Parts: sequence; C-alpha cells; structure tokens
Amino acid sequence: MRDHTTTADPDQQQAGIPLFPSPDHAHHRCRNAALQHAARVCKSHGLRLTRLRRQTLEMIWKSHRPVKAYALLAQLSVQRKLAPPSLYRALHFLEQQGLIHRLRSTRSFIGCSHPATTPHSGQFLICIRCDTVAELPGLPITPGTQRTATSLGFAIDRATVEFLGQCQTCRTLAP
Ligand SMILES: [Zn+2]
Ligand SMILES: [Zn+2]
Ligand SMILES: [Zn+2]
Repeated sequence: MRDHTTTADPDQQQAGIPLFPSPDHAHHRCRNAALQHAARVCKSHGLRLTRLRRQTLEMIWKSHRPVKAYALLAQLSVQRKLAPPSLYRALHFLEQQGLIHRLRSTRSFIGCSHPATTPHSGQFLICIRCDTVAELPGLPITPGTQRTATSLGFAIDRATVEFLGQCQTCRTLAP
C-alpha cells in the first residue's frame, strides 16, 4: 500500500523547498533546487542563464527574506563592476521566466517557491517581524474578481497578493 503523503504536503511542494521554512532548515537545499530549476527552465527555452543572471538569483535565494534592488547591487558589486541597468535587466529576465517575484509593498524581490506552476498569481504570507516570506501554491484569481475586472473591460495579466502578519516562530518567541 502507498503511504498517504500527498503532493499537497507543503514540505513536498517543490523539490524540497518548504512552504514556511523553520529558521534551522537546510536552506542550501532550497537554493540548490532553485538554481537547478532555473538552469532547466533556461535550457528548455533556449535562453542563457548568464553569470549575472545566475548570481542575481543566487543572491535573492540567500534566504526567504525579500531583498531590495539596491542591496543586490551592493552585494553583487563586491564581486564585479556592475551598472544598475544591467542588474535591472537581469531582474526583469528572472521575473519574466517566473523564477522570482516582485513584492510591490516593499519594492523587493523574492525567489519563486513554485516555479513549476507557471504562470501563477503570487500569494504571499509576509512576517512583519522576521521578514520571512512564504509563497502559497499558485491559486487562481477568484471568479468574482475576474468577473468584475471583465465587466470593467480590464484584462488581468497577473496578480500579487500580500498578507502581512506574524509567522509561527515569531509568535512562539514572543506572543
Ligand atoms: Zn530555505
Ligand atoms: Zn511563484
Ligand atoms: Zn517571523
């Protein structure tokens, strides 16, 4: 008999990327899975994962906390001379390929935890205390929203929904 773990189990989601990671999880696995996936996506689309694109993605996957463009620029500039437009192009490329998401509220970037389900609307739980972000598995835009938008003649291209709150770890530390 098969065991009853299902693909709905958060820990089984994307090649070992946990939905809401505990502080002591093996993060190098998340990062490696994301980088390997990026390499596969680029190869299958005949696109080049250039050194800058890869380094940018790697830097974004340093943690599950969103990172701002200026911080990325500062970190990447340690390794190489880098003009802001080059970084913006790399970020745009990664976003177009569904490898990262842009969080509007904080103008920052986060690695996509469900890159296989493209295209999807990003729905994020953002901890206001430790900054950890969990991306919920791609949920469809609700029919109600879709209908209203259509009635207004608006074609929804993509959606990003951000929920602010406190993660379990932070709530346990100081409720
Ligand atoms: Zn991780
Ligand atoms: Zn995503
Ligand atoms: Zn937290």
